Parts: sequence; structure tokens; C-alpha cells
Amino acid sequence: MKKWIGTDESGKGDYFSGLVVAGVMVDESTASKLKELGVKDSKRLSDSRVKVLSDSIREICPHSVVSIGPERYNELYSRLRNLNRILGWAHARVIENLVTQTSCELVIADKFGNKRYIEKALMEKGKQIRLEQREKAESDPAVAAASILARDGFLKELKKTGDKIGVLLPKGAGIQVEEMAQDLVKKHGEGVLGSIAKVHFKTTQKLKANCSSPQDSANWEKAERLDRIWAPWRTKYIFSPLAEECIFCEAAKTEHRQPNTDFVLYRGEKAFVIMNIFPYNNGHLMVAPYRHTANVEELTQEEVDSLFKLVQKSVKVLKAKMRPQGFNIGMNLGKVAGAGIEEHLHIHIVPRWNGDTNFMPVVSETKVISQSLEEAYKLLKEGFTKI
Ligand SMILES: [Zn+2]
Repeated sequence: MKKWIGTDESGKGDYFSGLVVAGVMVDESTASKLKELGVKDSKRLSDSRVKVLSDSIREICPHSVVSIGPERYNELYSRLRNLNRILGWAHARVIENLVTQTSCELVIADKFGNKRYIEKALMEKGKQIRLEQREKAESDPAVAAASILARDGFLKELKKTGDKIGVLLPKGAGIQVEEMAQDLVKKHGEGVLGSIAKVHFKTTQKLKANCSSPQDSANWEKAERLDRIWAPWRTKYIFSPLAEECIFCEAAKTEHRQPNTDFVLYRGEKAFVIMNIFPYNNGHLMVAPYRHTANVEELTQEEVDSLFKLVQKSVKVLKAKMRPQGFNIGMNLGKVAGAGIEEHLHIHIVPRWNGDTNFMPVVSETKVISQSLEEAYKLLKEGFTKI
């Protein structure tokens, strides 16, 4: 019997919360069942109807849903600077999840950009399938069902995001959304946006333009900087006032914090080793002095010794635990050179493997990433203790 997959996304036009992509596989028989149930483009259905129908779709059809929360979304956006690449990646993931469950040759997706983005992101298993991108693809029952699952997933995400700060977040990007955002910024500070909204939307610029005092604008700049260096160990601080200190200084003094939460692997005499988790590449480490300084020429001899000893130690540990075939080691001094955190110098150690792609390990689902992060942390921590 003829089988095909439909995919669709939800949330790309909503300021609050993240993005959800869903895929549904149908055959001729389930497709007609879906039609009988009244499955159609989710934009033409009420939220309550979406909820009821999504339960039925999940019962009848193989399906897959990928949710990208707002923090993760902002992280991806600041790295990729292109919504279509994020979408391409997420569509490819749901397609792969489905073709792993059962064979299928045809995928129909809504026309969101260039299908090259999906094709590029498809791995081995997904390579054989034929991809059709259509305008108004929602008239296809598989795509319509996917649009319902995606919308349902997004509504749940939106609720979850609102629960974090105890409000009901509105959909879309209209005036109601702007007013809510303005209120939340007043209440929690600008830093809150990075964990509840898509900060690249014009809405953020509008809020910024509305600030009155120079202090306000200074805070904004700081908030933007924090978005760029967003890291999980900061999440517990997100709702408190913005910390004055840089993330290296903060990590440097978290001596007694629980293991596995600060991603500090080793503390030497004058410097320490921390995992680079933004963006996360397998085994990417940083060595930084405890002292907050931006200038390499100001380091003391002891600091230089400690830093380089730790570079050696890191390479040893990585070789033993991850068996890379090579390394990139270096420093970026000053923003113009690409430093993410220019005020506190640090040495990057990036292990390299033959054929490693930068894109795939970086652009993974939040859950997958945090697991592999924690696993990598455990593995390397063990190495730093023993080697
Ligand atoms: Zn610092």
C-alpha cells in the first residue's frame, strides 16, 4: 500500500516560547480515516479541537515530534542566524525518526524555504527518500495531521514556558504580546526574554526602543551579551538580577557546587578547565586563569605556567578518553578576533576527528545534548582525576 510522511512546524510566528516540528506517516487507509475525523490544517481549527484531534492522530499513525525550547532556539539562532536551517534540521530529524520505525519513500513538507536545507540535514537513513515541498501542503492529510501535532506540541510548550514565570503567555506577535513582554521585562529584567521568547524577533527591538533611561539601555546591552553566552549553569540565575560577574569568574568560584552542574573539570593552581557548552562540540574544553583579565601580556609567569600545564593535561585526558585524531588549540583576543567573552581570556581546546561535521553535533535536540554533555563531563572528569 502507498505510504507517505507529512511534516509541518508550529511556533515560528509566535514571539513567546520555541518551535515544534512534527511528522506523521499515513497510508491510504489511515489517510481516509484522518479525513473522516475532520483532520485539516491546524490554522483552521480551534485550540481545543487541535487537542482532541492530536490524541486521535497519535493513536492511528506513526508520528514524531521535535520540540525546541526557547533557550535552545535562541542558542541555535545566534549560531546559525537562519531560521530555515533550524527548520531544515528539525524536519530532517522527524523524517529520520519515522523512517527508522517503518520504510517509506515519499515525504511531503510545507514550502518554508529551500528543500536543500532538509536534504542537507538528512543522515544515511533518510537519504533514499523523495522529498516534495509544496505550497499549501496542508491539503494533504499527512501534512494536515503533522500541522495538528506540531500545533498541539507548541501549545503545550507555550503553557510550560508561561508556567516558569507564572503567567499565561499569548500567542502570535501582536500588541498583546508586546504588552506582556514589556510587563515581564519590568518585573524580571531583560534577561528573562532569552528563556521565554525568540529574541531575534522585531518585538525585542521595539521593547528596547521603548526604554527611557541610559541605565535601561546599558542593561539591554548586557542582556544581549548574556543571550549570546547563554549556558545551562546560568539557568538558575535567569530570574534573579543580572550577575555583574563574567561566567568564568562565576565558574571559578563554584568550588563546592554539586558536580555535573558547573561543568568545571579541573581546578589547577592559577587556572581551571571548563567544558565549552556554547556552542557545544564534543570534547571542546577551555582553560582560563582564575583572575579576570583580558590581556595575555598581563599574565604572571605562574599563571602562564598553570595555563599551559592545563592545556597539556587536557590534551592528555582527551586523547585517553575520546581518541581524537587532532586538535585545534588557540585563543581569540578581542571581539574582532571572535572572542565570545572578551573580558576574561581563555584557551580553547577542540578535539577533531576525521570527517567530523561541525553542524550535526552542535544542532541537536536539547535532551540529547544535555545527556551527551553530562556523559562527556563524567567521562572527562574521571580522566582529570586519574591522569
Ligand atoms: Zn572573569
